[in-house]
Amino acid sequence: MKIMSINAGSSSLKFCLFEMDNKEVLVSGLFERIGIEGSKYTIKYQDYKLTEEAELKDHEDAVKILLQKLVELKIINSLEEIDGIGHRIVHGGMEYSKSVIITNKVSEDILKLSDLAPLHNPAHYLGIKAFQDVLPKTPMVAVFDTAFHQTMEEENYLYAVPYEWYTKYGVRKYGFHGTSHRYITKRISEELGRDDLKIISCHLGNGGSVTAIKDGKCVNTSMGFTPLAGIVMGTRCGDVDSSIIPYIMEKEGKSAGEVLNDFNKKSGLLGISGVSSDSRDIEDGVSVGNERCILAEKMFVNSIVKYIADYYVQLGGVDVICFTAGIGERSPETRRMVIEKLAALGIKIDLEANNVKGKFTKISSDNSSCLVYVVPTDEELMIAMDTMELINR
Ligand code: ADP
Repeated sequence: MKIMSINAGSSSLKFCLFEMDNKEVLVSGLFERIGIEGSKYTIKYQDYKLTEEAELKDHEDAVKILLQKLVELKIINSLEEIDGIGHRIVHGGMEYSKSVIITNKVSEDILKLSDLAPLHNPAHYLGIKAFQDVLPKTPMVAVFDTAFHQTMEEENYLYAVPYEWYTKYGVRKYGFHGTSHRYITKRISEELGRDDLKIISCHLGNGGSVTAIKDGKCVNTSMGFTPLAGIVMGTRCGDVDSSIIPYIMEKEGKSAGEVLNDFNKKSGLLGISGVSSDSRDIEDGVSVGNERCILAEKMFVNSIVKYIADYYVQLGGVDVICFTAGIGERSPETRRMVIEKLAALGIKIDLEANNVKGKFTKISSDNSSCLVYVVPTDEELMIAMDTMELINR
């Protein structure tokens, strides 16, 4: 069975085609600058990487070229070989706590939720429409980033603001990266042969979130109403006092939207270091003694430690802490600093085992109070697995 996993952005479309029998990636790639001058696409298959420029007026152009290329390059013989398509959807609101087969109602709901995810959901809708136009008979599934977090209790997802803001406007914590946290939960549960685990999953990429999981269900998570909340990120500030907004509006003559843009795009590692949002550049800065990079790194680490310590208590102890995504998988230094700051909880790192990049590895020492693992995430595979399961039902 062949399943395609799709992540449609406002001007991009990422794809990955899996052979589900052995979970092999047959082909993957990216269409970029859709609707913008200079559009191009990259297709990776076997040992080949093909990059071409092409006029991409809209997502449908990208989908047509993609499907045509798959046949032309003999990756598939005909389009009927694609058994299903799974779409990554950032926001499923309060309605969607699981992946679902895409019906007209589902795609309209995704569009309606644009209010809560204005940068993402309209693009996902376009991606769905483009595939529906070209492959009208192929079943499609929506996999929501927010769905995994729908098991949080009210006291964990509400903000202490007027309750009517929640009932009237949906103001609450939704949480994001759910597909990744769910994949991590599944992978580690399989590894340890147990479903009754208390897990803290740290997804540390450009964006980052920490999630507390008990018996396979999300109990709490660090991102909030939007992905701006929680830990310090590449360019996002994470948790701040919201009174800063009117204060800076006044001082700099900015609109609320402009200050929010600074919170999203000019803050985090970039804002503090003044150097870069990329943790590799920060680590380089640290190694030559750049004080602002040292400060940015400390603030980043402290914000992660704060959430782990909080969730350790909320869960009543923890069985496994997992690190995933770009930084979590590839920065031994970040992992070491985080774990060493958790010494008060008896959590200990095996420095030799920790010297690993992008590989599933146990990195806690034998006398640690809980296990610590590096678990490479695979959101595309999770999307494909959900799709396969739903269309087989
Ligand atoms: P996104 O949130 O965009 O999906 P990724 O999960 O790809 O992000 O993570 C991107 C982050 O991972 C960047 O900050 C990058 O610096 C970091 N990263 C990637 N490789 C390394 C590495 N070898 N060491 C430290 N950080 C790394």
